[in-house]
Amino acid sequence: MKESHAVVSQRGARRWQRGHPWIFRSDVVRAPAAPPGAVPVRDQQGRELGWALWSPVSEISLRLLDRDPGARIDEAWWHGRLRRSLERRAPLAGVADAFRLVHGEGDGLPSLVVDRFDRWLVAQFLSAGIEAFRGEIVSALRALTGADGALARNDASVRSREGLERAVEPLWGEVPQEVAVREHDVRFLAAPHTGQKTGAFLDQRENRVLAGSVARGRALDVFSYHGSFALHLARRAESVTAVDSSAQALARASQNAALNELHNITLVEADAFEFLRAQEQAGERYDTIVLDPPAFAKNKPSLEGAVRGYREVNLRAMRLLAPGGMLYTASCSYHLTKARFLEMLQDAAADSGRRIVLRALTGQPLDHPEVLTVPETGYLKGALLEAD
Ligand code: SAH
Repeated sequence: MKESHAVVSQRGARRWQRGHPWIFRSDVVRAPAAPPGAVPVRDQQGRELGWALWSPVSEISLRLLDRDPGARIDEAWWHGRLRRSLERRAPLAGVADAFRLVHGEGDGLPSLVVDRFDRWLVAQFLSAGIEAFRGEIVSALRALTGADGALARNDASVRSREGLERAVEPLWGEVPQEVAVREHDVRFLAAPHTGQKTGAFLDQRENRVLAGSVARGRALDVFSYHGSFALHLARRAESVTAVDSSAQALARASQNAALNELHNITLVEADAFEFLRAQEQAGERYDTIVLDPPAFAKNKPSLEGAVRGYREVNLRAMRLLAPGGMLYTASCSYHLTKARFLEMLQDAAADSGRRIVLRALTGQPLDHPEVLTVPETGYLKGALLEAD
């Protein structure tokens, strides 16, 4: 007889014991005879381990939902889990109206991402298992947030590995093409339908405030996207140059500058590597620099090349710093560990010929919880550096 529960190896069971929610295909001893959804999981001795999301075609077969074998994964269960996730964000209510409501495994809601942009939500259902609960999740989110509309940005490439279609679909209501959101003392336009990720990068909010707090003189925001760092810098610096290779992103940066009545931002469409090299050759100097590159390391094999890229932009930025100048530099590559990030900065500093002081190390804000036993929930690290 076919059973609808999964049986996992000792190694798989141990992952759960050690606080990691994923069980890989190679640790599934017997696959459940069930469609994607929630399944009970047992070890080979028949011990009940709890409930997991089941993704039949994925390398990540099982994602832990609940250690209680008696749990019922119904609408009330999703409502409760989502409510706790939302409650964790309470401290952000006063400072921003755009933040992440659900950070997947970081909130015990595996493969689900939900971002809020003012009165609208953008969700990503990133596994076959979570997709099976779309109805329950949508109705719980509607009830909990009262949002006017929501969109599924299900165009992420990981969906292909789950055997899922890739598409951008409305969930309810109508989400505008552009939403003006507030982040501390600045406002910017997010583009939920077409912008990168879910429409804006929400993970750097506090780091932008940090960079803004030390900004002065001549400032540079490299890999600016729609100018989020530049806006914070421009409130204190005399002038800000924002550099990005995307004309579309810069067009929004221009609107964002206007929205904040900031007239000291110059937008430059350029390749960051070429731009930094040319500035260095021209002997330019900046008092404040931000480097927020895209994830150069998309996977493990590309890490070494990525490290060279990070080192190059950081080295050039360090050389461009005026005496006493500050550099906020970040990496959002999961594959570049915190230790490796710091090592890369040490190498760049050594090559720069400058004496560089580490003023602060930064990570993710509270709406992107990084769980220590789940390294995949953490990817963003930053450093605030000061040059002599
Ligand atoms: N700092 C932004 C996020 C940056 S995301 C924020 O806080 O919102 C990375 C940005 O780098 C994207 O906007 C992308 O268009 C840009 N980019 C990628 N490769 C680039 C390159 N070689 N030169 C310049 N910009 C680049």
